[in-house]
Amino acid sequence: MRIYLSGHEYRYAVEQMLLTLFPGERPEYPAGEPEGERLEVALHRAAVYTTASCALLRGGKRFRGTARAKNSALTDRITTERICQRLVKNAMYRAALASGLRRPVWGALTGVRPGKVLLPLIRANGEAEALVRLERDYDVSPERAALCLDAARHTLAAADSLEGRDVCLYVGIPFCPTRCAYCSFVSQSVEKSMKLIEPFLDALLREIEATGEQARRLGLRPVAVYFGGGTPTTLSPEQLERVCAKLESCFELSALREYTVEAGRPDTITAEKLAVLRAHGVDRVSVNPQSMSDAVLEAIGRRHSAADIVAALETVRAVGGFAVNMDLIAGLPGDSAEGFRATLETVLALAPENVTVHTLSLKRGSRILAEGTPLPGAEEVGEMLDFASARLRAEGYGPYYLYRQKFMSGGFENVGWTREGCVNLYNICIMEELCSILAMGAGGSTKLIRHDGGRNLRFIAPKYPLEYIQGIDGVCAEKEQIGTFYRESGELEE
Ligand code: SF4
Repeated sequence: MRIYLSGHEYRYAVEQMLLTLFPGERPEYPAGEPEGERLEVALHRAAVYTTASCALLRGGKRFRGTARAKNSALTDRITTERICQRLVKNAMYRAALASGLRRPVWGALTGVRPGKVLLPLIRANGEAEALVRLERDYDVSPERAALCLDAARHTLAAADSLEGRDVCLYVGIPFCPTRCAYCSFVSQSVEKSMKLIEPFLDALLREIEATGEQARRLGLRPVAVYFGGGTPTTLSPEQLERVCAKLESCFELSALREYTVEAGRPDTITAEKLAVLRAHGVDRVSVNPQSMSDAVLEAIGRRHSAADIVAALETVRAVGGFAVNMDLIAGLPGDSAEGFRATLETVLALAPENVTVHTLSLKRGSRILAEGTPLPGAEEVGEMLDFASARLRAEGYGPYYLYRQKFMSGGFENVGWTREGCVNLYNICIMEELCSILAMGAGGSTKLIRHDGGRNLRFIAPKYPLEYIQGIDGVCAEKEQIGTFYRESGELEE
């Protein structure tokens, strides 16, 4: 899409809105006089109002949208930037609606974390007013606004429960039994990379030591551990034992509130592995069917059946002591609203403590995208999500965290649902940036959070197992940044 800006240079805001409204379009900024199908986005400051206007030229027609704010509201530089960017986005949004675009459920809200907009509104104005503003200023649908508010309550409760030294630990194990068709992670199937597992573990144990040393020196207090990947239970019982034991010996884990291991694929779950995890205090596992339709599972390249999931759940419950999360995806190839309903009913019958309902998001690197596989349309995906929301609420689940992704079917969202008292703190912390995450393992993204509005620090380990193994000296040396960050940011001062 050709884009012409005048009176401002808010390219990022314009591109975010372009992605929300027209996900297939890429921005271009040609020089010269405006021509062809295009967006003209202007910002003009007059005596009383600052006004953004957008003209969308499509199919030989011109559609207009405007948004304005009183100059008296533009108090300081940061507020002015924020308000002007919102005006620009709203003008684009209105022009797109005028052109006949179906109203998106999240309205004019862009970005990954709706909570980032709602939480400051709640803190400043209280819940009722915040909700009104979310619906009025951003045109968010009442259902999505309510969803966001419910999740925000959990965020606020989690934030209140944390102290300055609290951190979460993440351990990334980048191996899976086979690779799923929709996967865009770097996970390697063990069929291809079995020989890398042992050298990877040697490197990982070194990184755990280096990270633990920093954490102990600074007196950081892990409150949650999360093993992700990949599928960590691809490791053998003995390998899991080694990683868990190392973590215990390197970190002070006495304040730990939860310990999660993703056991996404039922073909990796055995009673022996679960017993090892329990012995180390793991109290939550994620068993992820994605769908309970065998035809859909086959279409997405999961080499297991729905019956395998049920059997895996039986094993988990027989070992005992675990809260269970189950991930589902709305919008998978070969699925339908009816099929998704049946999947959800089967999952509810298994009574997991958490259900995470994702919307299919296809990124480059996934096989589905490469092969052009047909998918359910946005309307059908919307039906699946509406059904999930109503049914989960009726069964006593509530939303506790949510986020959106780029390239998500219908511009919808991913939502973590929980039974009362079973929230996963790690998911809230990482999504809402409530505390630092110390990550270890391939692709591990360490994020050090400042609560004073200063700049957070993020660094990421190499993604691919071989790269990670070869780069482990640098990965360990990078851990020094944790000490530097905490010393310089003053985050640990009382
Ligand atoms: S289980 Fe998850 S990480 Fe592994 S291949 Fe499938 S989608 Fe990717």
